[in-house]
Amino acid sequence: MANIEKGELKVPAIKDGSVIDHIPVEKVEPVVRLLDLFDLPYPITIGRNFRSRKLERKGIIKVEKKHFTPEEVNKLALVAPEVVINVIKDYEVVKKINVSLPDRLHSIVKCPNPKCITNNEPMESDFSVLDKKKGILQCKYCNRKIERGEVKLK
Ligand SMILES: [Zn+2]
Repeated sequence: MANIEKGELKVPAIKDGSVIDHIPVEKVEPVVRLLDLFDLPYPITIGRNFRSRKLERKGIIKVEKKHFTPEEVNKLALVAPEVVINVIKDYEVVKKINVSLPDRLHSIVKCPNPKCITNNEPMESDFSVLDKKKGILQCKYCNRKIERGEVKLK
């Protein structure tokens, strides 16, 4: 735990896995749902209201034995762009991943346009990411633009 400042991460150490840190408190639940964390067969610790220097209060999720794929990390950028994923190996943080939106979101977001073909045919949604910082997406089928706050996950 050498790289974690004291008092910042008051959760029991894990030997191998991932710690999702700096989660805004209200986004802890969406993150759990987005990554289907309850479906994982590994021990999970979910913490809220930890002290944080960046945020007033933050959430932390610790998942043993799980290393997230780039696709899963990118999904995270959709609801909680401020999170940092600590990759833990042998009780040490070996990597810190800042999440960022990919160029394209395939089959993750639901198009808000009821007339969109993706809501009327058995089709996967497909969005281009127009602005990675602001989280502005555009449906490739009906061109509807949506912002991060309006995103509904499939
Ligand atoms: Zn659409």
